[in-house]
Amino acid sequence: MSTLLIERLIDATTGTIEANVELLTELDQAVGDGDHGLNMRRGFTAIREARAGLSALPLAEALSKAGMLLIAKVGGAAGPLYGSLLLAMGKAGADLQPNRAVVVTMLSEAVAAVKKRGKSETREKTMLDVLVPVLATLQQGVEDGLETRALIERIKQAASDGLESTKSLRATKGRASFLGERSIGLPDPGAQSSCLLIHAICDVMAKDAA
Ligand code: ADP
Ligand code: MG
Repeated sequence: MSTLLIERLIDATTGTIEANVELLTELDQAVGDGDHGLNMRRGFTAIREARAGLSALPLAEALSKAGMLLIAKVGGAAGPLYGSLLLAMGKAGADLQPNRAVVVTMLSEAVAAVKKRGKSETREKTMLDVLVPVLATLQQGVEDGLETRALIERIKQAASDGLESTKSLRATKGRASFLGERSIGLPDPGAQSSCLLIHAICDVMAKDAA
């Protein structure tokens, strides 16, 4: 069960990054240094290459190992940030069955790890503008006892809205902050990759719940 789910998650996440390398490159060319697409491709290619080994592990261990791969393989800001995110999820979920409450704790720890690593908060035009509302929506939905597929749809919407919200923000963290006022009007590349990844993961979980 876990093996199949991990394989599906790896296929979906690596697939969406591969399909959107150009988009991520273009966004980062506009507000950063243009390497976000290639950084993400490098990291997720390493995860895809480790697919057989990762899918044989319990979910939490697989997340930790994938996080270590991202930290090892990806230069730039996003690799260590996404790496810390996965490591924190793995640590929080270790030895636990990934039920709803555990997933909330895992994502909560993950968001805290990104904030700590990036010394950043929301409204600074980063991936956190997607991740934080996604966490809040998950927390609320679990608290309200929302049906799984309705919860997944809400999470996807929160990710899309979070991405959209980055357009009007001025970057104060990362390379885009060098642009100052000129960073306003364009979405953040890391928010875009987070939104793509969240959507891919949600689609896998929706199929799993069907
Ligand atoms: P680099 O900025 O080193 O070129 P990438 O282009 O791969 O690395 O990643 C850029 C993305 O990383 C940004 O779009 C933003 O979402 C995210 N990011 C950068 N710095 C931070 C930070 N301090 N906190 C949170 N996210 C950040
Ligand atoms: Mg960059």
